[in-house]
Amino acid sequence: MSNCFVCGRTFVPSKYTRGQKFCSVPCRHQARMVYKRGYDALWRARHPGYMKAYQKRYRGEAVSGLTG
Ligand SMILES: [Zn+2]
Repeated sequence: MSNCFVCGRTFVPSKYTRGQKFCSVPCRHQARMVYKRGYDALWRARHPGYMKAYQKRYRGEAVSGLTG
């Protein structure tokens, strides 16, 4: 038995998938999204000038897009 990295439920990993960390496909997708968001934040931190230009261009839309 393993604990899902996303929802924390216990699940039985597939015999054929070694080191399975997620109980289901939706959880796997969510984990990927979180990973991608973390990467995006890192990228933005390294390119502060890009986000300034982006917000200037799109103003309110950019802000609502970030929170959603
Ligand atoms: Zn899960």
